[in-house]
Amino acid sequence: RARARGGAGCATPRGGGGAGPAPAGRPPPAPEARADAARALAHVSDGVVLTGRDGRLVFWNPAAAELLGLDDGDRAGRPLPELVPSWRAATSPGNGGSTAPVVLPVTTGAGERWLSVTSADFGDGVVYALRDVTEEHALETMRSDFLATASHELRTPMTSIYGAARTLLARDGELDAERRVAFLEMIANESERLARIIDEILLASRLDAGDVDFATEPCDAVALARSVLDAAEIRAPRNVELRLAAPSDLPTIACDPNRLRQILLNLVDNAIKYSPEGGEVVLSVALIGEGLRFTVRDNGIGFPADETERIFERFYRVDPELRQGIGGTGLGLYISRELVERMNGRISAESAPGRGSTFAVDLPLAPDAQPHLPSAE
Ligand code: ADP
Repeated sequence: RARARGGAGCATPRGGGGAGPAPAGRPPPAPEARADAARALAHVSDGVVLTGRDGRLVFWNPAAAELLGLDDGDRAGRPLPELVPSWRAATSPGNGGSTAPVVLPVTTGAGERWLSVTSADFGDGVVYALRDVTEEHALETMRSDFLATASHELRTPMTSIYGAARTLLARDGELDAERRVAFLEMIANESERLARIIDEILLASRLDAGDVDFATEPCDAVALARSVLDAAEIRAPRNVELRLAAPSDLPTIACDPNRLRQILLNLVDNAIKYSPEGGEVVLSVALIGEGLRFTVRDNGIGFPADETERIFERFYRVDPELRQGIGGTGLGLYISRELVERMNGRISAESAPGRGSTFAVDLPLAPDAQPHLPSAE
């Protein structure tokens, strides 16, 4: 990436953009050489900043102006920490030395960026090299978020399984048949939950690697929706009612039935999970334009409208206080969106805190789709 925009900032504008004072003990470079250096630095995509011995700004190239949000000219002569408050984290090198990179946040009119800053002492001052590492920093944050979430999410069922197995081992003779079955059920349910979390993590990483196959075929949407509710019913608490709302003569859609089942089951599971007070979860199917729309509606805790885009991001979960301690990896909706888009569909959401949520999945009709007529029986 080369930048040709704008010129370099300099504390001595008449110098035509100087490359800073000369290293100690050497004669200062000729004005043309300084102008060449400044011109060359104007094309470097990394930011370069020079300060004098007193820490005041002497020179910066256009990339540095953009990264730090510096204005032309009028910033010269001011100390860097005054212009960029987080700058204090960038350590200064000792005499003639240089520093290892320090990563610090900088807020400009364009938002927050993370910069990697290295510095070197050149005798009469310090030269700083700045690199935009916002993307790397976001990835790093995501990786550590993931480790924290995954280990917590795996630990919770593990603890229950271990506790139940230990109890059965230690007190088997004392437990009546009913309690023994309750512990065994807990082991089975929590093992299944563990397996689901691990499957989610593996599927998300396979989707990232583009390593997921799709077998698209004409599908009977209503039969598929019904099978999703049957599967969800097994896990649904007693205070949640599941309902299907669909006409019986819908045309077939083009989709991979296993993938679509996985998407809808995830949406229905979420609807149940985020409805701690119970209520009704409705899965509906309807014809819209050139396709079918599956809608999953609940009357649970909901989420703020401005989180609508972010909840589809990998590992993203709405503020813990709003989630009322409900567990999850933040991968389900990310996986659902990836799968829907790979079947040429679209997923969207609408909600407000305390007002329930509605998720919609739109998929195209199968080529030559015929209305699916209910069977004769
Ligand atoms: P998880 O449920 O494992 O956290 P998801 O990717 O399925 O991850 O969902 C991301 C976030 O979106 C959830 O953490 C939750 O805050 C919010 N969310 C998803 N579905 C619902 C829903 N039906 N009602 C309220 N919030 C929801």
